[in-house]
Amino acid sequence: VLRVAPWKDAVCLEYQGKGLVLERYPEHVKTVKGYYQLPAVIVIKDRFVKFVRRKVKMRKKNIFIRDKFKCAYCGQTFDREKLTVDHVYPKSKGGKSTWDNLVTACILCNRIKGDTDKMKPLWKPYEPKAHQVFIVGKIQPEWRNYIVED
Ligand SMILES: [Zn+2]
Repeated sequence: VLRVAPWKDAVCLEYQGKGLVLERYPEHVKTVKGYYQLPAVIVIKDRFVKFVRRKVKMRKKNIFIRDKFKCAYCGQTFDREKLTVDHVYPKSKGGKSTWDNLVTACILCNRIKGDTDKMKPLWKPYEPKAHQVFIVGKIQPEWRNYIVED
């Protein structure tokens, strides 16, 4: 449902009548048409259904976000630079690069586990829903009413 859009896109969509602004930020920006209050939450009418069904792209960053920057083997939280993506069932044995076979692992655990499946992750990897990935770290107070948290 939620997508972080650059403010210029949001202003444009509203101006063209395609977006419905639900809430605004207190700040104003100056445009050719005068001062304009920045939209905070915008519903894009014709694309609403599409956004709801939007799939999360399988990227390293999104796997870290799904796992809350925690190593799936030792359970500790790390900085992004100290994390890797691990194939639960090793790639060398035919393990796939899919949401349900990839987990966040710290460098040390990844090294210990190596090319085996001797270590089991603390949680079962799964495909996340769009909102889980997109709201992390960027929630603005104005959005809270529109966010469904798990
Ligand atoms: Zn670890």
